[in-house]
Amino acid sequence: MIVAERKPFDEIRSMVSNYKKVLTVGCGTCVAVCLAGGSKEVETLNAELNLAFKKDGIEFGAETLQRQCDMEFLAELDNKVDQYDCLLSMACGAGIQFLAERFPNKPVFPAVNTSFIGVNLDVGWYEEKCRACGQCVLAMTGGVCPVTMCAKSLFNGPCGGTNKTSCEIHTDQPCAWFKIYERLSGQGRLDQIMKISPPNDWSNQKPRKVIQPGYEERVKAMNS
Ligand code: SF4
Ligand code: SF4
Repeated sequence: MIVAERKPFDEIRSMVSNYKKVLTVGCGTCVAVCLAGGSKEVETLNAELNLAFKKDGIEFGAETLQRQCDMEFLAELDNKVDQYDCLLSMACGAGIQFLAERFPNKPVFPAVNTSFIGVNLDVGWYEEKCRACGQCVLAMTGGVCPVTMCAKSLFNGPCGGTNKTSCEIHTDQPCAWFKIYERLSGQGRLDQIMKISPPNDWSNQKPRKVIQPGYEERVKAMNS
């Protein structure tokens, strides 16, 4: 899931202070699971904002969509947004941008910082696992991500600075390639570590698209 954290309250306050009616929009998926931007967090933020702007007469509305990264759910706001001067989104960066595209005439402000793609270790404890590099090498690395776990994001490691199983850069972290070695060794697949992975195409750092075969077939069928 995508993990996010709420922005500092003073930053949020300064973004909305010039408006009279603000709609706080939560998202019911990733940011709800990581306790950053679901309906409960919308309620808490609005309570704090109401208190802070008590004397200024600013009104805060609340809506939480199932997903802000999906037009189908954004459409639920079509009849509501005109009643507000600006929108305060608690979704991830993708959801915030999709909300802004749907309502281009309204200022849209982010109430959270989008942090990473990660996993849920416990309620309130999340760890980064993937940087969406677009060229997944987990098959060769025993399911340990070298892009996320290695300080140098080495596809072919270790770097030579490995110090008694620790990373030379982040000394409090295990070396990713030590973890990879251990995992592959336990699986009897150490031959994998000797294979050279071609470098990733980091020059391709522009907005990427994924078009699934099912979508292409559906569009073809509709046009035939
Ligand atoms: S190699 Fe790592 S960053 Fe790249 S897609 Fe796989 S898990 Fe994600
Ligand atoms: S010590 Fe290991 S984790 Fe740290 S930069 Fe070198 S290869 Fe990567």
